[in-house]
Amino acid sequence: MSLAVLYSRALDGLSAQSVTVEVHLANGLPAFNLVGLADTEVRESRERVRAALQVAGFEFPNRRITVNLAPADLPKGAGHYDLAIAIGILAASGQLPCEHLAEYEFAGELGLTGQLRSVRGALALAMAARDAGRTLIISAESSAEAALIKDANIFAAEHILQVCRHLLGGETLAVAVPPTEIPTLIYPDLADVKGQSAARRALEVAAAGNHSLLLIGPPGTGKSMLAQRLVGLLPPLLEHEALEAAAVQSLGQNGLDPRQFGLRPFRSPHHTASSVALVGGGSVPQPGEISLAHHGVLFLDELPEFDRKVLEVLREPLESGRIFISRAARQAEFPARFQLVAAMNPCPCGYLGHPQKACRCTPDQVARYRGRISGPLLDRIDMVVEVPAIPEAILLARGQSEASEPVRIRVSGARGRQQARQGLHNAALFGAAMDQHCQPDAAGLALLQTAVQKLGWSARAYHRVLRVARTIADLASSEAITKQHLAEAIQYRRGIE
Ligand SMILES: [Zn+2]
Repeated sequence: MSLAVLYSRALDGLSAQSVTVEVHLANGLPAFNLVGLADTEVRESRERVRAALQVAGFEFPNRRITVNLAPADLPKGAGHYDLAIAIGILAASGQLPCEHLAEYEFAGELGLTGQLRSVRGALALAMAARDAGRTLIISAESSAEAALIKDANIFAAEHILQVCRHLLGGETLAVAVPPTEIPTLIYPDLADVKGQSAARRALEVAAAGNHSLLLIGPPGTGKSMLAQRLVGLLPPLLEHEALEAAAVQSLGQNGLDPRQFGLRPFRSPHHTASSVALVGGGSVPQPGEISLAHHGVLFLDELPEFDRKVLEVLREPLESGRIFISRAARQAEFPARFQLVAAMNPCPCGYLGHPQKACRCTPDQVARYRGRISGPLLDRIDMVVEVPAIPEAILLARGQSEASEPVRIRVSGARGRQQARQGLHNAALFGAAMDQHCQPDAAGLALLQTAVQKLGWSARAYHRVLRVARTIADLASSEAITKQHLAEAIQYRRGIE
């Protein structure tokens, strides 16, 4: 037999597309041609495969070797076909049996001594192999992550020799096992935050309706602490959400830490982050911060310091929950359903309105600072709340602040009402569903119309206030949206306009 056919996968956004690896040996001048990869990848892969086979003690066929990766137009992205190519060469040259190869999918980059290195996207590879009814052979380093897919058949290998022994029917490979360390699932707790009752209330409302939130206050008043505590107020991830979030993380620069599996992500990119870092990109498209925050919280501290162009690209995913990254001829799609929390100082020096410290900014500087956040982005923020400097007496006071647990229970009750009524978070209500479920009572409507006239709101702003009021009513277990609920919701809008 001088032809071997094996299966591997290419990562395309979150999905893993089937790639057929055909290895053909022919007589003629010895050569090693690899078709279907970019030039540099071809060269590197050939070197790794050749070295690994020789070091592992196999004969590298002195014939004309052609390896074809099909289809040709898939994004391939280097290393993880090494294992399939090496096994294919051994099978085509009669050093391994060909019969059962079609039952497997292979993913692993080879080191020069034949050891297998980790691969990106193990979770997506495992999911796809399961759906195709094949067994995945993957590098041991990536196997714990792949084993998070419970009903997939996965073998873990540290070295190409182990894979060969397995295929020869000798020593069976180890079955991949998920990480034994149970994630602690502990989030930072609200009990650590002193004072700030208005901001705590706003955080609870935001959590209950999935609303985006902007915190404005001087440095050191606990804006970041509050933002970090939002994830712990949200209900636990459902199984499929946890898998989806983990699959995205697994494609990211740092991969997935399986011990973090099941935790809602909290991402806080620095304001110097590029738009690629934030929304994703690269020659093999990788998810950015907004996708790594999928099903969790994206926190943008020092919002006005972010490049305006970078902030503009957030608008689309904030509405649609996903992001398309265009690369030359193709597009990759990543999910990006995150809850946005942003924070900013009230002015460039930070102390505008501070009870003790004096602000050094001119009105002009303050206006320019606030103007850095574009109207259209601000228009997509549902709630604004002030996080003022806390008087020393409160900071020093004993007594506990309310912990996260009781808040989480109230949030979960309000979210339950939304699911039962409309099957959506209030923040996602639009059009007819919005008209049906967000009708205030007469006094509420009168208050809202007055506010609209006085503050000159856009239709978008008007709808945002209504949705937030709906959530406030849900927290109060009220089907009606009353004047009182609207008055609170209008407060959260006033800081924006
Ligand atoms: Zn100032």
